[in-house]
Amino acid sequence: MDKAGSAPGASEAPATGGGGDDVLAENIRKAEGYLSRFKSGVVPHFIAGKLDEGRSGETFENLTPIDNSRLCDVARGDAADIDAAANAAAEAFREWSRTPGKERRRILHRIADLIEARAEEIAFVECIDTGQPIRYMSKAAERGAVNYRFFADKAPEASNGLSLPDVEHMNYTLRAPVGPVGIITPWNTPFMLSTWKIAPALAAGCTVVHKPAEWSPLTALLLAEIMQEAGLPEGAVNLVHGFGEDAGVALTEHQAIKAIAFIGESATGSKIMAQGAPTLKRVHFELGGKNPVIVFDDANVDRAVDAAIFMIYSLNGERCTSSSRLLVQKGIYDEVVGRVAERVAKIKVGHPLDPTVWVGPLIHTRHCDKVMGYMDVARADGAKVPVGGGRSDYSDKGNFVAPTLFAGADTSMRIAQEEIFGPVLTAIPFEDEAEAIEIGNDVRYGLAGYVWTGDVARAHRMAHALDAGMIWVNSQNVRHLPSPFGGTKASGIGRDGGDYSFDFYMETKNVCIALGDHRIPKMGV
Ligand code: NAD
Repeated sequence: MDKAGSAPGASEAPATGGGGDDVLAENIRKAEGYLSRFKSGVVPHFIAGKLDEGRSGETFENLTPIDNSRLCDVARGDAADIDAAANAAAEAFREWSRTPGKERRRILHRIADLIEARAEEIAFVECIDTGQPIRYMSKAAERGAVNYRFFADKAPEASNGLSLPDVEHMNYTLRAPVGPVGIITPWNTPFMLSTWKIAPALAAGCTVVHKPAEWSPLTALLLAEIMQEAGLPEGAVNLVHGFGEDAGVALTEHQAIKAIAFIGESATGSKIMAQGAPTLKRVHFELGGKNPVIVFDDANVDRAVDAAIFMIYSLNGERCTSSSRLLVQKGIYDEVVGRVAERVAKIKVGHPLDPTVWVGPLIHTRHCDKVMGYMDVARADGAKVPVGGGRSDYSDKGNFVAPTLFAGADTSMRIAQEEIFGPVLTAIPFEDEAEAIEIGNDVRYGLAGYVWTGDVARAHRMAHALDAGMIWVNSQNVRHLPSPFGGTKASGIGRDGGDYSFDFYMETKNVCIALGDHRIPKMGV
């Protein structure tokens, strides 16, 4: 049965049931309005303060994952476009890097205001472009605006350093923006992630060339327009669409670009490091994850089950910090897995603009095929599939996958080792604390870990022993912007958030001043 309707913007609402139909019809009508501008021509780059159709005239097709129909054509950036954008960023750096922090703060707050004013447009465009459900994307603009406000308020103090007095000298440090930076973002929550990278770069005084993912290019243009309207100088932020292998490579190799902030797959991170080596690029990587949620038998199981389900099936499971491995202590394993299975079977899959939907279509047929491939891998490796394990029956036109649970897995299986990046959870039993740590750490990734226990000492022991950049105890993933965000092992290099972001976007300079006539050796006298 195909319930998805004829097109993402179809005026007739697909029959989704569950009471969201009227709202869905209205949302589709509004989305069609917001998307019409993209459909009327080629979606351009934004270079040196102007819309720019690119030097080659090449374009690529942008599809919606709802039914894989063509949404629009997008300018396909190449090395020449990157060169124009990088030069514009270098030119703008002269002015922006010297703009007083208070003025940078004012402009960044203005960007936040304008994001809030266009929140619905951003959310609807993002839903159609990525397949992410509106229940999460309705907050994407709000989260983006909060990112700008947070770093806006830090801009005036970004160049502050330390006072390091010695007996005969006074040392102090200053921080200066590193230069024009390249920001390369993925497709899972593109608007929010772009703001998370661009806001601290601008607050630090850097200028930016942004290369968004080719599977989700649209909200990047909205953000570029907003930033210009807010009063950013021409060239301070430039946007070049295109593929990793040409626009992405050119950006990482460009001489004028001093650093690359990248969010994406670990394998792409390795390539970027190699591509940036000849120009000695500074890199900051937020990469993949295979994060454990570890539930001990002394935990509040009700809350642990709620959090484990939410952290893997929200955002279509296309989430770097998803709790993709459910590790449960043996005594409560059957009970917990049974409860999770019952709930997962009831998660509503459907059109991303239906406010009652929890899981939408995956970004692209290629990614959908990858996720579906793990259904066969799981069965071949001997795991059980108590729920899901196939395509959702919502629609066979789009990339809809049934929320899936793999049970009875062990840590050596591919479904326990590899990042699937879909609504797919792998449950693994463990005996005791030592085994939980061993299994928890037995992956190449180290982004996040979630621990559920009623024993405060065990909570600390686990937090210390898990090899991951972020540990949440008796909590789902709740972000606190001053706290460091990032991973260990194949999950990343560097930290974002608070002052940590400035460690990347700024150089620290030491100034040493003699306080008197200290001894200077008299050579050649
Ligand atoms: P991806 O690595 O395929 O692509 C990300 C970006 O890199 C895209 O813009 C792409 O065009 C570009 N790119 C590809 N090859 C390139 C190259 N050789 N040089 C320069 N740029 C290149 O990742 P994706 O599939 O878009 O995103 C999903 C991945 O992102 C997952 O692994 C997920 O875990 C990760 N992710 C991590 C975080 C985090 O904070 N750790 C957050 C979100 C997503």
